[in-house]
Amino acid sequence: MSGDQSKDVIVLGGGAAGLMCAAVAAARGRRVVVLEGSKRCGKKILMSGGGRCNFTNLYSTPENFLSANPHFCKSALARYTPADFIAAVEAHGIAYHEKEKGQLFCNESSKQIVAMLLQECAAADVEIRVRAPVESVARDGAGFVVHTEAGSVRGESLVVATGGLSIPKMGASGIGYRIARQFGLAVRDTRAALVPFTLNGGQGKAFGALSGVGLDVEARCNDAYFDAGMLFTHRGLSGPAMLQVSSYWQPGDTVAVDWFAGADVEQWLTERRDARPDARLATVLAERLPRRLAQSLCNEVGKASLGNHRLRQLDDQACAALATRLTEWPFTPDGTEGYRTAEVTIGGVDTGALSSTTMAARDVPGLYFIGEVVDVTGHLGGHNFQWAWASAQAAGAVV
Ligand SMILES: Cc1cc2nc3c(=O)[nH]c(=O)nc-3n(C[C@H](O)[C@H](O)[C@H](O)COP(=O)(O)OP(=O)(O)OC[C@H]3O[C@@H](n4cnc5c(N)ncnc54)[C@H](O)[C@@H]3O)c2cc1C
Repeated sequence: MSGDQSKDVIVLGGGAAGLMCAAVAAARGRRVVVLEGSKRCGKKILMSGGGRCNFTNLYSTPENFLSANPHFCKSALARYTPADFIAAVEAHGIAYHEKEKGQLFCNESSKQIVAMLLQECAAADVEIRVRAPVESVARDGAGFVVHTEAGSVRGESLVVATGGLSIPKMGASGIGYRIARQFGLAVRDTRAALVPFTLNGGQGKAFGALSGVGLDVEARCNDAYFDAGMLFTHRGLSGPAMLQVSSYWQPGDTVAVDWFAGADVEQWLTERRDARPDARLATVLAERLPRRLAQSLCNEVGKASLGNHRLRQLDDQACAALATRLTEWPFTPDGTEGYRTAEVTIGGVDTGALSSTTMAARDVPGLYFIGEVVDVTGHLGGHNFQWAWASAQAAGAVV
């Protein structure tokens, strides 16, 4: 391995959190090395937001995060806000726009965010070593020694920023969890999140033909609900609403879909019935829903011929029952597409073992965990990067 073999700070992982932390620490005068396993840094940033990186969310609050301890993220998020990251983006002349609901994207390319982080690292003399997959870590006096395929490096502080398990092809590895366990920190069970659902069996058959159909819905699962787009795929259910509720879903749970996204369907159905008693139900539903979906829903309500019913055949009670069904449509996914396509990993290093102000392991002086490897997971919409920046800043200011 070329370069200095001894540093003040060793950062494992050159992703969003690792690069940010390295730049912040080096700007304080610390000698920092980043060890990145793949051949380039920031691969997930590059593929994020459809190539435009949804780098933060104007309305990010602690309520946008899941964790066994929902209070843990508050301190770091309060001390490094979306406005702070926006200021950095503006200082680098990166043009951006709000897509919806506070989600900020680069106008041009995610490459600009990676370039910005690499420039900040270069300006502060951070050494970045790529193709340096970390194999093991050990205590070395008061510091640490890290062994990689390309040699070893020693340092006073060790920052683990190796991310979660999602998208193994992008370099995801479980090493951060292994290091945590090695030093006696608890790791909470992990599972894929912000991930499409799979539907097999009856529901798969009934809705499989709708692949490509999309609409805005309200999706609910275990007390969480999201108004957002939904998309049928040939494997099951996707789109932002489904990705969001997937973070709250456990095997066996039902996801309820309101096809009318909060509108008063009972009133609408009775009004349509009174105005157009001879209209077919499927035709009327298709005024508000994609035609193929309207037909499938009618077929699935239980009576194959319902779609051909005239509205006058629905009395008030039938209208009310139908409205309830259409606003609480139950799906029972077989599973999710898993880490292969998940945007994030839920669970990870137990926050009980970490300081919420510095991300330091309470019982292991010099050891820090930041970003997705920690048991803090954001909603879709720029929150996960905001956590990466904020937790990186918290550690970078003290390592
Ligand atoms: C397709 C996709 C789109 C996304 N879009 C968005 C979005 O638009 N907005 C948003 O907020 N979030 C988005 N996310 C989530 C976001 O990318 C992550 O939450 C964020 O990247 C986490 O940052 P991190 O630095 O903790 O981990 P990562 O960015 O995953 O970085 C970890 C780094 O560690 C390296 N590494 C792993 N193991 C080793 C090892 N053994 N040795 C050395 N290096 C190692 C990896 O190669 C990687 O570079 C998206 C995720 C995906 C998969």
